[in-house]
Amino acid sequence: MKIYHSINDLQQALLLLRSKGLQIGFVPTMGALHNGHLQLVERCSHENSISVVSIFVNPTQFNDKKDLVNYPRTLEADCQLLETVGCDIVFAPTESEMYPEPDSRVFQFGALEQVMEGAFRPGHFNGVAQIVSKLFDAVLPDRAYFGEKDFQQLAIIQEMTRQLNYQIEIVPCPIVREADGLAMSSRNARLTAEQRKNAVQISQALFKSRTFAADKSVKEVIEFVVTTINEVPDLRVEYFEIVDAQTLQSIEDWSETENPVGCIAVFCGEVRLIDNLSYASRI
Ligand code: AMP
Repeated sequence: MKIYHSINDLQQALLLLRSKGLQIGFVPTMGALHNGHLQLVERCSHENSISVVSIFVNPTQFNDKKDLVNYPRTLEADCQLLETVGCDIVFAPTESEMYPEPDSRVFQFGALEQVMEGAFRPGHFNGVAQIVSKLFDAVLPDRAYFGEKDFQQLAIIQEMTRQLNYQIEIVPCPIVREADGLAMSSRNARLTAEQRKNAVQISQALFKSRTFAADKSVKEVIEFVVTTINEVPDLRVEYFEIVDAQTLQSIEDWSETENPVGCIAVFCGEVRLIDNLSYASRI
């Protein structure tokens, strides 16, 4: 496994590999890797000759500076994990390498970016699009792998890929959960033991709500999830919406979509966690 810190070195290496006809798969991450990331990398290395993983905590997507400062950074341990799952190339640039000058590009994703994470984290998706487009330009992969854990991000990346005409297949990958159901996240490492115990109620409330969703209205399901989670110490729901999986717009009635997805953001103490669950198979 090779580790590159400069775009130039990375591109030289990839040029050579591409000239041999090798297909390149790419997994962008912010590091502090867990099994959720590793499953993306494993899939990437199975489906491509070369797998590239980037590790970069992108400042332009953090609307909360405290969150940026507290974000875990564990490059050495990350590289050790990546060796075990078939990663060929790690790209770990510095901030000045990715942003030699401020990126002034403003993306327009319309209604997709005006809801949920886009509404509660102003500028977040513009920062995501800035870094992912820079990384796509540097790596020029055939395929790029993204987790459904960040459901809205995946929709934004698909739209950006379409708008910028990247010839890259975007591969969505299912959410990887802890044994008790909590969605894996680098931010889970910041939870105290007590908060970690309480955080399981987020996914539990979602799963429970699906068992009776067929007999309840959208409004009743939302009320159940929000009330159940808010009753748990340390947990505070920021939003919970049931949306159409394509448009990401809220629905009021199940008949509005064949693919409803419940998307949630919850503060667990100071740590903000997100999760989502499809209600398509609620019957
Ligand atoms: P991050 O390092 O949080 O930016 O995540 C990098 C990639 O890993 C993104 O495509 C995430 O959606 C994905 N990812 C993070 N956590 C999970 C998870 N629990 N299950 C599946 N994919 C995940």
